[in-house]
Amino acid sequence: MGKKLTPLMEQYWEIKSQHQDKILLFRMGDFFEIFYDDAVTAAPLLNIALTSRNKKSGDETPMCGMPHHSVAGPIGKLLAAGHKVAICDQIEDPKLAVGIVKRAVTRILSPGMVYDPDTLDQLSANYLCSYDEKTMSFLEASTGEAFYFRLRRKDDVTKLQAVLSPAEVVLSSQQKSTLLKEIGAAAKTITVHDFEQVPERFQRLPESAKRLVAYAQYMQGPEVLKTLSTFDERQLQKRMEMRPTVLRHLEVFKTYKGEDKGSLFYAINRTKTSAGARLLKSWLNFPLTDVELIVERQDRVQQWVEGLPKLKEVRQVLSGMGDIERRIGKIANPSCHVHDVLALAQALRAGLRVSGYCPGLERHQADTALGIVNDVERTLVDEPPVQTKNGGFVRADFRKDLQELIELSENSQKLLIDLEARERESTGISSLKIKYNNVFGYFLEVTNTHKDKVPDHYKRKQTLANAERYLTQELQELEDKILSSRSKRVEMEQNIFSDLRQKILAATVDLMDLARHWSELDVISSLAWLALEYNYTRPSFSKIQALQLDGSRHPVVEQEVSKPFVPNDIKLGAGECLLLTGPNMAGKSTIMRQVAVTVLLAQMGSYVPARSAVLPIYDQIFTRIGASDFLAEGLSTFMVEMQETAEILRDASENSLVVLDEIGRGTSTYDGMSLAQAILEFLVSECGCMTFFATHYHEITQLDRKYPQIKNAHMAIDESSAHAGQDISFLHTLKEGPANRSYGIQVAQLAGLPKKVTQRAARILTGLESFGVVPSNTDQMSLLDAGDGATYPEAEASPLLDEIREISLPQLTPLEALNQIAKWQKELS
Ligand code: ATP
Repeated sequence: MGKKLTPLMEQYWEIKSQHQDKILLFRMGDFFEIFYDDAVTAAPLLNIALTSRNKKSGDETPMCGMPHHSVAGPIGKLLAAGHKVAICDQIEDPKLAVGIVKRAVTRILSPGMVYDPDTLDQLSANYLCSYDEKTMSFLEASTGEAFYFRLRRKDDVTKLQAVLSPAEVVLSSQQKSTLLKEIGAAAKTITVHDFEQVPERFQRLPESAKRLVAYAQYMQGPEVLKTLSTFDERQLQKRMEMRPTVLRHLEVFKTYKGEDKGSLFYAINRTKTSAGARLLKSWLNFPLTDVELIVERQDRVQQWVEGLPKLKEVRQVLSGMGDIERRIGKIANPSCHVHDVLALAQALRAGLRVSGYCPGLERHQADTALGIVNDVERTLVDEPPVQTKNGGFVRADFRKDLQELIELSENSQKLLIDLEARERESTGISSLKIKYNNVFGYFLEVTNTHKDKVPDHYKRKQTLANAERYLTQELQELEDKILSSRSKRVEMEQNIFSDLRQKILAATVDLMDLARHWSELDVISSLAWLALEYNYTRPSFSKIQALQLDGSRHPVVEQEVSKPFVPNDIKLGAGECLLLTGPNMAGKSTIMRQVAVTVLLAQMGSYVPARSAVLPIYDQIFTRIGASDFLAEGLSTFMVEMQETAEILRDASENSLVVLDEIGRGTSTYDGMSLAQAILEFLVSECGCMTFFATHYHEITQLDRKYPQIKNAHMAIDESSAHAGQDISFLHTLKEGPANRSYGIQVAQLAGLPKKVTQRAARILTGLESFGVVPSNTDQMSLLDAGDGATYPEAEASPLLDEIREISLPQLTPLEALNQIAKWQKELS
């Protein structure tokens, strides 16, 4: 650095050296400044100008900054980009400071411990997570939600991490050194935090939960702990294990393109509060496997479905509730504003109106909330000023001493006039005046004419040519009061507010619990609304593994297609496989996803899009659909397809639902076909799961002769439109039996391929069929009989066939024909 640092920069470096891994926001007057490398990193992220300090001295310091009152947005951006932020404040009044103002880091923020919850995505939880040998814990610091899972298998950690995608993973230094590669790759921010002790309330928790408690306390001080719920254990065995691949394949939260619109969540979310939306997401992430718990939710949904007027009323109330969980979270935050407390009270009042509909809610909790609401309403004015630094937010009549202060600060003129009138009356001096100057402050002025009427308790302060000036004790007291009333009032209001905040903090565990009940009501009533809106039905659950959906629809596609959605009846027994064939675009993928999302909805307690539905309880859903692109990770599409299939074949049980769409498509035809057949055989004979299997390999449809569990079905098309030259028309209806052909060329024609290409393709296909290379619609080649270890000819178009087809026989002499054959023989040898 060479040059001698200014005292300010010396102070900066002393503090920065203790927070090297964070971006340091350094308070200077009304600004927070960012210096050196931090500024270079932050400026582009915040989209603000990078300037420099000490330009003239040749020792330039890159810097950028923002006004102190608008740091929430910039901090939110830095955290979202994965950075940690340290806020360094001035910790003494600059006016009183001798030399340089004392400064210290007052708060540290990280992606999982944010500054202002309003900067977070309203519809998503922002988890911190930690794990140990036996458990994995999650903590949502902005809402106080906290829970842990007991791990059953090694890969539970990576799966839970993928499903709940925490903003920050907190590990011990020892764990960090042996960090699993998968976790490192998936985590946005990894923080090392070792700890010794946690407060007593948390001491019996698993190690992973304790680490999060200790970390939260370290970051934001002990107050944050008051808002944490006691970590509850969420049992994985009562929940269906949702794999990230399944969530992706079924487009549960995002479409393949990464958009919200078009996802299952988007289609079914009718919640009125952000907390409700987050809970709905969590239900989708962890559908239940315990039939009693599912039925409990269904019963509640049914109540609302059957009580539309009440449902409307409740939804109206919920829509005025706002994000109650995050509001409570904000109360623990030093940046908590009067408006936050008022909004909380308003939300609580709304919540209390619907508490009667929340089973399990305890009376004393509602009483606590009501107590808080009353306190807030009694304490704060309805419309406080935006800036609270001059007071004016506590009700004048809240306390007598405050009322006096307010009267003093606002009515000082009137009080002086009153005193003046009183003094005139008691002394009989009609010209007596109360005046003010900078030297003496307030004084009483009496003209010389009335001097002798002045009472003894008047103390003379100054003599003028024609008047005397006096002080009285009462006037002096009034003056003191007036001059200090403003600052006293602000201080008193702030103390009253702080007491109120402490009162709320002391009640947060109850309030958080209430908030969770209300969020649940929001989700339940949202599901009821959806059921009424789209005419869903309450599914029942069969003891045997049998599925029967009548008039089943796809919840997302039916909302998106312009034409009416065609409902289908789908039936499948234990261990059976529905083998689906039919042209592209006929609706095979749709119907299979439809079954899977119906199962997901049913097991989270929702009604489902069907006329009637009987379902088994599945332990897991497995899917292999579409071409996910993992090229960035160095895996080819086919490799991914096979890896995912391997996982399914390893883990699927008799109680699982497996959906496989066009397996084996990513390799050569015969490799793919052989794999598809072998995989299908394994699923029905070894796994015994319920399978939906769509394929374009029509040859496989004959497997039903060997495996009675395989039921052929196809998506019908309008046969009258299926002849060459005409556009194919899809009926989207599921029919028994295999499709008789694949209509690929017709679909290609529909897609607008040049006629020359489709005609040529049709001719190639006829040639292949006549050579028996591919089965025609009438003469199916039996792969079944090909048996184990069969090798298959390559099905490729041959120039030889083209040449034969193109020879004009009437113009050919016998000799020419012989020569032609000799030529071919030569080519072939
Ligand atoms: P491919 O083999 O090319 O993947 P596919 O047979 O799987 O095709 P889908 O992708 O399921 O076909 O469906 C194609 C389109 O048909 C859907 O995007 C949807 O718009 C429409 N569709 C599917 N099923 C129905 C239905 N039951 N009612 C109305 N429209 C439907």
